[in-house]
Amino acid sequence: MCGIVGYVGSKNACPVLLEGLKRLEYRGYDSAGVCVVGDGQLQIRKSQGRVGVVERQVLDDQEMRPATVGIAHTRWATHGEPNEPNAHPHADDTGRIAIVHNGIIENYATLRQYLLGKGHTFRSETDTEVLAMLIGEFYNDGAGSIEQAVRAALGEVTGTYGIAVACAGEPEKLVVARKGSPIIIGVGAEEYIVASDASAILEHTVNVVYLSDNEMAVVTRDGLRTLTLDNVPVPKEVSRIEWTLDEIARGGYGHFMEKEIFEQPESVRMCLGGRLDKRDRRIQLGGLESVVRTLARTKKLIVTACGTAWHAGLVGEFLFEELAHIPTEVEYASEFRYRNPIIEDATGVIAISQSGETADTLAALREAKDKGALALGIVNVVGSTIARETDAGVYLHAGPEIGVASTKAFTCQIVVETMMALMLGRRRLMSQQAMDQYIDELERIPEKMSRVLEQSETIRQVTGEYIDRENWLFLGRGYNYPVALEGALKLKEISYIHAEGLPAAEMKHGPIALIHEGMPVVFVAPRCATYDKVVSNIEEVRARKGRIIAIATEGDEDIRRYCDHVFYIPEAPAALQPLLTVIPLQLLAFHAAVLRGCNVDKPRNLAKSVTVE
Ligand code: GLU
Repeated sequence: MCGIVGYVGSKNACPVLLEGLKRLEYRGYDSAGVCVVGDGQLQIRKSQGRVGVVERQVLDDQEMRPATVGIAHTRWATHGEPNEPNAHPHADDTGRIAIVHNGIIENYATLRQYLLGKGHTFRSETDTEVLAMLIGEFYNDGAGSIEQAVRAALGEVTGTYGIAVACAGEPEKLVVARKGSPIIIGVGAEEYIVASDASAILEHTVNVVYLSDNEMAVVTRDGLRTLTLDNVPVPKEVSRIEWTLDEIARGGYGHFMEKEIFEQPESVRMCLGGRLDKRDRRIQLGGLESVVRTLARTKKLIVTACGTAWHAGLVGEFLFEELAHIPTEVEYASEFRYRNPIIEDATGVIAISQSGETADTLAALREAKDKGALALGIVNVVGSTIARETDAGVYLHAGPEIGVASTKAFTCQIVVETMMALMLGRRRLMSQQAMDQYIDELERIPEKMSRVLEQSETIRQVTGEYIDRENWLFLGRGYNYPVALEGALKLKEISYIHAEGLPAAEMKHGPIALIHEGMPVVFVAPRCATYDKVVSNIEEVRARKGRIIAIATEGDEDIRRYCDHVFYIPEAPAALQPLLTVIPLQLLAFHAAVLRGCNVDKPRNLAKSVTVE
């Protein structure tokens, strides 16, 4: 998820690696490190915090021997706190093999157990160190070469990775591999720069080789060999990077928010990774293991959060009540903390926050904890304050979110709540058959999200027709009522257009007075139990000459009769619909902001992480 740089050439590797890491800083990270191969030995320096700290360590270190081969990393923690021992590179326990890794090794716990049995000792809590150790195990077990050891180890691994491996025994070589996390190799004059993102390469060369999933490369100063993970050679063309540094940072998208909207199929895959146990047909949330029995007997859940995370909490209320039959309340953290809330026995409080640092949410959590609640967290940033202060919790694994308006964190928050509700539901009342269906449906969500994203251009054109309107309404019911709120919030946040989100049936109790000719009203109206009722609400708006944009289920042609524009989502069970219906609304807000010339990634008056009251 974060940054990899590798170098093989004739220059001093350390400065090249550190410069490369600085180019990747924009992605967000929590720790950094380098490993160079000097005099046939690996020299690793790493630290929590900025690349600059590692740079000073290296400069001040008289023992650092010059080297022309090395690897480096900026880490964005997924497994284990952001501290020095967990920072990459990670070595095997002979200290002869080192690895940097982006992604998640999903079966790391099983592999770790196996390696412990073989007498290995671990120095970190990461999934990555397990892979380092496994490569070492194969290498020392006579794999023949580092390349063969890497191949053998990756054969045992499930999960996602972009990796670069250095080996003291083969000091002129780097082995790199990818599955689900990018690796690019810059081709210079008798030098190669490996990176997870072209911005670390561009100052050296514009000529690159892109590795595809399930491919690896063996890189030496004299050349580059690319092959599949099954050892079949794959000849590669050298391509030219046409993008500017700025474009690369945004992955070719105009804005981080757009990139993050489009990343959602991938971030949801990451979030589900290793947690849907397909063999035993159950859900495994490692972070809740210690409390799962208590939680299954919980009498009440209180979800507390702010802003977008609060909307995710509202979806959670439906999920926990419907799938797990646990009475659930959702509270604004800012209100909860000052309300002297009543916490009865067997109550669990779930704090949701992307950053894990939201001041109001943290205060609400502390209040609930003091009153005896079981404190749970759903956060994206590993080792954040909320993560540390809760009894147990689940990380989103959504990757760093840079755009201030939250998008991919929102959908991953809902995915985590869904997994929690299913896991608890199965322990309380849910049949295995129902569980099987949900597992299958959850797995299909990323692909369905991609289908919704294909409508981006149509959504842009429709949004353009209404770009001068200053008031919008967003309406939905059931699971899609919080989605309507989120659609309105997104539009407000980044385009500064006034928008209100409401449960559709509430409209007639007041807000209908606002509706006038030409006012855009967005209905989130996929097929579900209340579909017909929502269609009646659509009729009410049409009668008052409002302009209607609907989010409907594929195949629902009928709805076109009542609406001016329709965006479609693939069929999905009601409980999973928010993961799809929110996407057109994110895109609508995004396009509106761009069309109005607003600063999409840094909207006025807003901060990414609200650490003040
Ligand atoms: N899962 C690895 C860790 O937590 C890699 C994180 C990353 O992609 O930066 O160390």
